[in-house]
Amino acid sequence: MTYRAPVKDMLFVMKELAGIEAVAALPAYADAGYDTAAAVLEESAKLCEDVIAPLNWEGDKNPSSFRDGKVTTTPGFKEAFRQYAEGGWQGLQHPADYGGQGLPKLIHAACSEMVNSANMSFALCPLLTDGAVEALLTAGTPEQQSTYLPKLIDGTWTGSMNLTEPQAGSDLSMVRTRAEPQPDATYRIFGTKIYITYGEHDLAENIVHLVLARVVGAPEGVKGISLFICPKFLVNADGGLGARNDVHCVSIEHKMGIKASPTAVLQYGDHGGAVATLVGQENRGLEYMFIMMNAARYGVGVQGIALAERAYQKAVQYARDRVQSRPVDGSATAAAAIIHHPDVRRMLMTMRAHTEGCRAMALVAAAAFDAAHAHPDAEVRKQNQAFYEFMVPLVKGLSTEMSLDVASLGVQVHGGMGFIEETGAAQYLRDAKILTIYEGTTAIQANDLVGRKTGRDGGQVARAIAAQIEATEGALRQRPSAAGRAMAQRLGAARAAFLDVVDFITTQGRAQPGAVYAGSVPYLMLAGTTVAGWQMARALMAAEDRLAEGVDADFMRAKIVTARFYADHILNKATALRDSIVDGSEAVTAMALESF
Ligand SMILES: Cc1cc2nc3c(=O)[nH]c(=O)nc-3n(C[C@H](O)[C@H](O)[C@H](O)COP(=O)(O)OP(=O)(O)OC[C@H]3O[C@@H](n4cnc5c(N)ncnc54)[C@H](O)[C@@H]3O)c2cc1C
Repeated sequence: MTYRAPVKDMLFVMKELAGIEAVAALPAYADAGYDTAAAVLEESAKLCEDVIAPLNWEGDKNPSSFRDGKVTTTPGFKEAFRQYAEGGWQGLQHPADYGGQGLPKLIHAACSEMVNSANMSFALCPLLTDGAVEALLTAGTPEQQSTYLPKLIDGTWTGSMNLTEPQAGSDLSMVRTRAEPQPDATYRIFGTKIYITYGEHDLAENIVHLVLARVVGAPEGVKGISLFICPKFLVNADGGLGARNDVHCVSIEHKMGIKASPTAVLQYGDHGGAVATLVGQENRGLEYMFIMMNAARYGVGVQGIALAERAYQKAVQYARDRVQSRPVDGSATAAAAIIHHPDVRRMLMTMRAHTEGCRAMALVAAAAFDAAHAHPDAEVRKQNQAFYEFMVPLVKGLSTEMSLDVASLGVQVHGGMGFIEETGAAQYLRDAKILTIYEGTTAIQANDLVGRKTGRDGGQVARAIAAQIEATEGALRQRPSAAGRAMAQRLGAARAAFLDVVDFITTQGRAQPGAVYAGSVPYLMLAGTTVAGWQMARALMAAEDRLAEGVDADFMRAKIVTARFYADHILNKATALRDSIVDGSEAVTAMALESF
């Protein structure tokens, strides 16, 4: 067994926490209810478990390679991508008008978790294509949409996102790639883009690069950046492939992880300029890119959950098999499988609770996205959009940071074998590290959460979420169970800590920005842990109710135990984070620069 998709947990979250039936009640998603989700998830699980997961280890050993300007992907990837495309998986969440399945993000997110658990290097290609589709749906002309969308959605072509340059990483205002307008309304692009995921490969016949560049004479900074489509092969009027465009891969990177995913340096315009067309209006590129980035950041958060799930499954398997030492509780007279040792249990529970908490948070956010896009009532759309936007940095920041901890625990459970590459646990740890870096580092997510998502509206959305959490605490207090009462107490303390920090940010943001931003990442962790804990609290109540009805007793009992663990071992960290943020900012910046 390499990977088993956690279909049951995904469906539980969809039904009990994310409200899949409410999503299916939206006219755009009629028929996308529980039964549809169950059928789609089962199909996705088959492809991911049987075809894509077995290639993960192969990709690490035998990564994409580069020769004479061409990238060759790991053997097996091309065939797997063909099956993925033919199965319609690339188009799952995209509009039926362009050949997609038009399913809600809620279902797509679960399928995306599966393909990323199976093989993150492989899954990056569809993820980047989704980003390109999103950008074209947002700001493309009808002609651009009809030219590119059907082929991106059916997997004939793939997409890439070209933001980063050597001097412009977190700070995109420093983008220097140049776009020269032409008399025929096209542009010619000149410059170098680095770290471009699937910027060159052999999985599809064309690559549609979405490129940030500065039109000659545009203002300095973020206000002078435009977005362009620049395909590897130009597209003829009849939709067929035309001349090779002047964008070339000059190398691919040798990386710590996700080795099978080619990370390209792309050179634009060495032979007269790469032909491109403008997306939307000049100088509004970053705005469009942010829409695309929200989708991509959410997607990277899901990658974190996916990786954590895979690391957890592997650790459980090993812990059941490896025999070492007699259990301290005397339950066996001889050495037993290490899963009997309390500390191994603690590690496995930590891995499981983090993964389930982040999954619940992410799927609830996905349902809010669906309501924000498809609800008939404008006010409901607005509220859901605000909630979703608050969630994006939490899903990205918390899920990716926790995936690193989980993957590291996964290695620890394996002992020395974990450090040996052939075991496979180390690959998850190496693969996880990129997640806290690309699509904006954790610090960049935290800046977004503090500035745009909390400070800008004076903490309004944050406080509205806290009020919802408080209502859950009220419901928990009505419960007769010890787990319910313990959860109510921990959740209440976490919510109070969260609100203290929201007050600190909204009152001190202008007066002491250094102090507020010194606590930005801890605030993201505090907010994320509180929201994920809130979802685990809701899960606990739902599981108790289903258990009382006699539904799937083993699963429900396990969910209750996991939620209780989350409360006592993860949610309880919230108050310490509050102290670091509110009381500890001075120590962060007090050291004289020359003393480092
Ligand atoms: C494998 C891989 C794949 C990638 N794929 C793509 C892709 O497909 N397309 C693309 O365009 N890019 C891609 N990237 C680039 C990636 O998005 C950037 O590496 C990332 O945004 C960080 O930028 P940087 O590397 O320049 O780091 P820097 O911006 O130099 O950051 C260095 C450190 O400083 C911190 N820092 C910087 N600014 C701030 C701030 N304002 N506040 C607090 N801390 C700050 C960062 O958090 C980080 O810890 C990829 C990178 C890698 C390694």
